[in-house]
Amino acid sequence: MLNFLNKVGDYAKETVQAARYIGQGLSVTFDHMQRRPVTVQYPYEKLIPSERFRGRIHFEFDKCISCEVCVRVCPINLPVVDWEFNKESKKKQLKHYSIDFGVCIFCANCVEYCPTNCLSVTEEYELSTYDRHELNFDNVAMGRLPYKVTEDPAVTPLRELAYLPEGVMNPHEVPHTTRRAGLRPEEILQQMEQNLPEQKAEKTKA
Ligand code: SF4
Ligand code: SF4
Repeated sequence: MLNFLNKVGDYAKETVQAARYIGQGLSVTFDHMQRRPVTVQYPYEKLIPSERFRGRIHFEFDKCISCEVCVRVCPINLPVVDWEFNKESKKKQLKHYSIDFGVCIFCANCVEYCPTNCLSVTEEYELSTYDRHELNFDNVAMGRLPYKVTEDPAVTPLRELAYLPEGVMNPHEVPHTTRRAGLRPEEILQQMEQNLPEQKAEKTKA
């Protein structure tokens, strides 16, 4: 009889424990139900690149004076400036210009130092191809006007998705008290710093 009562007691304890675990799990679920999703439904939704994002480089053929400064400042001497000397005007005449974006590291040194500002960075980041050689853009491909997430009617542009509450697009509109999804980088750092002494103590014990 005692054995039976012990078994019933254990069973009751396990039932309470299981109910507690279910409750804990559901509390996490309910907590996340109040948050904005942190995923982007690409390609229907796209994040707006930040203001100083360095994407595909745009080139203006008519402004280029074939000085080759862009080649000299490039860490891998990547831009190809093909020119010939025009005897009549006694100036270099640009024939062809290209940058291989399969090799470029998007440091924007060339853009920074170009004396005529014929190079500029765009916010275009969709450069995937089936063949890496297709990323070798000539002056025609580089002269194409850049794609903008905010100007595409088929796309919902999103800004700083993970840190904004539902429906809010402009981070400046959000009051400090508003609940945000996920932790901010500085909060994650703070959390890591708080956990550091505990981890060190555990290591010393081990
Ligand atoms: S630095 Fe500018 S102007 Fe000079 S060759 Fe390069 S792109 Fe042309
Ligand atoms: S962005 Fe940097 S790596 Fe790419 S072509 Fe310009 S200087 Fe070279």
